[in-house]
Amino acid sequence: MHHPYKTREGGCTVTVFVPYDCNNNCPFCINKGEYADTTGFSLDKICESIKLMDEITPKCDFVFTGGEPFADLESLQRMLDLIPNTHNIYINTTLPVSENQPEEEILRFAEKNKNKIDCINVSRHVQRYVVESNDDLLARLPIPFRINCVLYEDYPFDELIPFIERFRKIPGSNIQFRFDYTATTPENLYDKENDRIIRDLNKIARYTGMDGCRMRCGFHYDYKGMEIVYHKTLPYSAIIEEDPTDGITYCILYDIIIKQNGDIHADWGHDVLDELELDIEAYRNVKFEPYDMKWYERVEIELCAASGR
Ligand code: SF4
Repeated sequence: MHHPYKTREGGCTVTVFVPYDCNNNCPFCINKGEYADTTGFSLDKICESIKLMDEITPKCDFVFTGGEPFADLESLQRMLDLIPNTHNIYINTTLPVSENQPEEEILRFAEKNKNKIDCINVSRHVQRYVVESNDDLLARLPIPFRINCVLYEDYPFDELIPFIERFRKIPGSNIQFRFDYTATTPENLYDKENDRIIRDLNKIARYTGMDGCRMRCGFHYDYKGMEIVYHKTLPYSAIIEEDPTDGITYCILYDIIIKQNGDIHADWGHDVLDELELDIEAYRNVKFEPYDMKWYERVEIELCAASGR
């Protein structure tokens, strides 16, 4: 059965899978298989889909992922040029540097797009799964960046502090630790008791609060003045839910995916939806609701209490 769509104000986040791969093989990656056969990949079709999503939701967020968005700067530029400044843009990358693409080229690209890209999410892990460029490059980026680190299975606790200290030295750094989202369920999403990562972070950093929504949550920490967030998200992003105010059952969408061939999907996989393809005409009539992201816990900051604020 096809339910009418509902999403948050501004529209779903649109995640674009670039049509070119990375050089890594992270064990938790579920995208890698999709890049094994590039038949049907089309930059032109992706560009058409980006224009369509801009037309329907002119203020939605765009996320570029892959694969490796920075593996082909010319193609990435072509896609970015289609997105007006009404959108926030985020790029997930390993910041790949090679003989063919030296640091200076990445910096030139970043400089050119510094008013367009809101944040570069750089993958770095406690266990080294990705080929890493020099940390100095991070310090030279003219765009805000965040370190994304998946704490996978039996990650080594002893390496957590050295990892955090490594990035604390770089001005502007903050870290988002991530649970392996293929292992996240509605039952363990907000479960603090049985979460090893929370137990470990509590030993080394000061907990400052927790925010979240139906789909994802963030446990916030302060480590010697550096912000750390532990992020958990469900492996799917659509929910079927009845709205008690109008009695209508909606398909609530959080993420829309533009695939490597330009197809537009309403979710990451078939967990919730029988039909993955986004019904464009239904989405043109999407009902908006306020974003359900909110703070659930906030730990008083001693400084504020002491100053009487
Ligand atoms: S760098 Fe990203 S896309 Fe590449 S294998 Fe790792 S998780 Fe997958």
